[in-house]
Amino acid sequence: MKTRWPNAFAVLSKLEHAGYQAYVVGGAVRDHLLGLLIKDIDITTDASPQEVMRLFSKTFATGIEHGTVTVVENGEAIEVTTFRVESHYIDHRRPDKVTFVRNLEEDLARRDYTINAMALSRRDELLDCFGGQEDLFNQKIRAVGTATERYEEDALRILRGIRLSGQLDFQIERITWEAMVAKSHLLQHIAKERIKQEIGRIWAFTNPEISLASLRNTCFLNVLPGNYQSLPEKQKPSLSERHGWAWFHYFQKVPYTFPYSNAEKRLQSEVKQTMSMLRQMGWTYEAILNSSDEALEVCFEILGNVAPFPSLQAMRRWAVSSPLRNSSDLEISGKQLMELVKRPAGPWIKEVNRELSKRIVCGELQNDYSELEKWVKKHVQ
Ligand code: ATP
Ligand code: MG
Repeated sequence: MKTRWPNAFAVLSKLEHAGYQAYVVGGAVRDHLLGLLIKDIDITTDASPQEVMRLFSKTFATGIEHGTVTVVENGEAIEVTTFRVESHYIDHRRPDKVTFVRNLEEDLARRDYTINAMALSRRDELLDCFGGQEDLFNQKIRAVGTATERYEEDALRILRGIRLSGQLDFQIERITWEAMVAKSHLLQHIAKERIKQEIGRIWAFTNPEISLASLRNTCFLNVLPGNYQSLPEKQKPSLSERHGWAWFHYFQKVPYTFPYSNAEKRLQSEVKQTMSMLRQMGWTYEAILNSSDEALEVCFEILGNVAPFPSLQAMRRWAVSSPLRNSSDLEISGKQLMELVKRPAGPWIKEVNRELSKRIVCGELQNDYSELEKWVKKHVQ
């Protein structure tokens, strides 16, 4: 581990030298065994949060009520959580009480899926009490312990399992799946913020379809708090979480206020504006320049192959190199148009300009007076 995860290794070593147990757990162990890229490292320890904060110089009490302290080691943020169990869960919503325990096995037993319930020591010894490695090998999502009970404790685990199966392209083991379906009604009690986070993680995969299909084919969507039933039929492109929400928001038929962040709301209204601009003017330089890259990226996915560019990159390349900076760069002026068509000034000029710009953007016309004149003579009276 020393060479692979030097910062996690340093944190584990320091905890061990101070007389505590400490292990890397959860997603990092799982993804490492699968040979995947690790996003972030979680450490579990029998040191209390206060002891962790005393031991390390740079710490943040990010989730102290759950026993989590973020340790910054050599610039890397590592979450260190005290071994704990949760004692449950009267309203199916959240643990009523978190109890710290001194035993790793108990900590692993409260985790959701076998593949998430393995721990790795700094000497690379794997602790796998629930058959996580075997399930990894067989590509199975299996609940730790009795699945129905685990979903009664916290129904969000249903969504987490569906998310994981899409993320890893794993099958959900039969008993676990049956428990998910049997307990799906409990999802209605889960806080919207937690649901939104899991659905957001689904967006962010390369292939969200597996998870979305599981959600659609069963009763899950109907019981989620929120109008997730209105998920568009069109397959969602792989977008970042925030872009995915903006995309979803655009297609949502029934308005519903999700717990969106301000940044998400901003992007959503930008997307709406850009879409209406694009619908009015087409992919003109003006429309492109007046929109943020982020909004354009989402619009590009919404419009799919209706967009005149093969890719967003091609559009950007065009936008920076286009000779048509805005409609005043057209090689035909309003005055020339009036003379050609023999009509007085009016809103029609703007419309013709827009049409010409669009055709130039799409490569149908050159921005060249004689070509534009020919087109106007033929199409405008
Ligand atoms: P990712 O790689 O997408 O972050 P992850 O497995 O690390 O996946 P996290 O949400 O970061 O997911 O959670 C870290 C670990 O905490 C999980 O691997 C699991 O062991 C445990 N965990 C998280 N949420 C729950 C839950 N609702 N119930 C039980 N265990 C959970
Ligand atoms: Mg994680």
